[in-house]
Amino acid sequence: MAKIAVIGSGYVGLVSGAVLSDFGHSVMCVDVDQKKIESLKKGVIPIYEPGLDAIVEKNMQMENLHFSTDIQSAIEDNDIIFIAVGTPPKDDGSADLQYVLSVAEDIATHMQGYKVIVDKSTVPVGTGQKVKRTVREILDKRGVDYEFDVVSNPEFLREGSAVYDFSNPERVVLGTESQRALDAMIEVYRVLYLNETPFVTTNIETAEMIKYASNAFLAMKITYINEIANLCEKVGANVQNVAKGMGMDDRIGNKFLNAGPGYGGSCFPKDTKALATIAREHDEHLTLIETTIQANERQKLRMVDKICAAMGDLSGKVIGVLGLTFKPNTDDMREAPSLVILPELVKRGAIIRAFDPEGTKEGGWRFEDIEQHMTFCDDEYCVSQEADAVVLLTEWNQFRSLDFDRLKAGMKDNYFFDLRNVYEKCMLEKHGFRYYAVGR
Ligand code: NAD
Repeated sequence: MAKIAVIGSGYVGLVSGAVLSDFGHSVMCVDVDQKKIESLKKGVIPIYEPGLDAIVEKNMQMENLHFSTDIQSAIEDNDIIFIAVGTPPKDDGSADLQYVLSVAEDIATHMQGYKVIVDKSTVPVGTGQKVKRTVREILDKRGVDYEFDVVSNPEFLREGSAVYDFSNPERVVLGTESQRALDAMIEVYRVLYLNETPFVTTNIETAEMIKYASNAFLAMKITYINEIANLCEKVGANVQNVAKGMGMDDRIGNKFLNAGPGYGGSCFPKDTKALATIAREHDEHLTLIETTIQANERQKLRMVDKICAAMGDLSGKVIGVLGLTFKPNTDDMREAPSLVILPELVKRGAIIRAFDPEGTKEGGWRFEDIEQHMTFCDDEYCVSQEADAVVLLTEWNQFRSLDFDRLKAGMKDNYFFDLRNVYEKCMLEKHGFRYYAVGR
């Protein structure tokens, strides 16, 4: 059993801490957010993530999992310290490392012996070495010479299936220069090691780069199929069948080929921008990534153009929106396409009625600027009341089998924009809708 502290109890830290405690380790999850920790101590999970509540409850009962705001004790009492704080984008697109480095300072200030410092946050290449320098400087100032090692252990979990992903990863990446730290990390992930999960062991810089290169590639793949979809609309091809035909080629693979309103979320937008910035700082130009970033911004606005092209002037038109989060099964609204699409619809005169199963709380403040033109509804049928159009923006399961007659009953007009390609045109037309999809 390893003694682990996880600093930062957000989407990644909380899931990592909970699953590691489920692997049999003793885990202390720490956060500066007192409210979050108070709520966790009572067993109330501050985010929506399927399956997380059960695993937290079970391991709290077994006393494997604890929550605290006391970073000093967490560092003194544990051997392996995970850094899982945010690395949000700065105005210039680069990753803001202030939270990561502040945790590094805390570790150096409070450590009383050997520690393995594991960076789980997504950080630019070179951050591991920066963490090392920061810790060493503070230890020097303290006049102590405790040993420590730094490991880069990037996380690949997806929000919405985070518990499953952390428990069943396709690979574990461990970047370190120290055999001692590597042995400790293999112990941390022993359950996965025994299950023959592939481990990629490498140096810190390579591990840091694997994460950015992976996320940027996925963002590019989504953007690629979105651009193909745009062309499909012009030439009479069906992007879903194109994607199916492409995806059967093992070299391409069938994942991440769903055309839609553009990628969002807390990772792809920020990580593509950070990678492009890192490249520029090294006199390299990642043209594919820079173009991906621009094309993704265009894709969101293209959805608004699609709606305008069909409906004409949007002044006074009521648009019912199904889904606000960047994808289903999460309450995360960071960089969701809705944050661009809805204000743009309002700018063009529309009035919004929106429903999201989990995103309303987060959406409340994020849509503050358009609140006079927006109503949050209680369910999917409420959004269509007096609406001229319905826009399916996030493919939550409950939007996949709508009762169309009920949806249409209260509507003033009959437009249906399926921005996730969930439905078939003939089906919607049968119920009297004018149907528009993406790339079909
Ligand atoms: P988050 O914003 O949900 O959580 C970060 C937490 O860290 C917050 O609760 C914050 O209060 C806490 N924090 C900040 N400074 C602190 C400090 N000094 N001490 C203790 N706690 C502190 O962020 P997240 O989505 O969990 O992402 C964390 C990192 O993991 C980021 O680098 C992100 O890119 C990466 N990542 C995220 C995902 C994802 O799907 N969310 C997936 C893989 C990797």
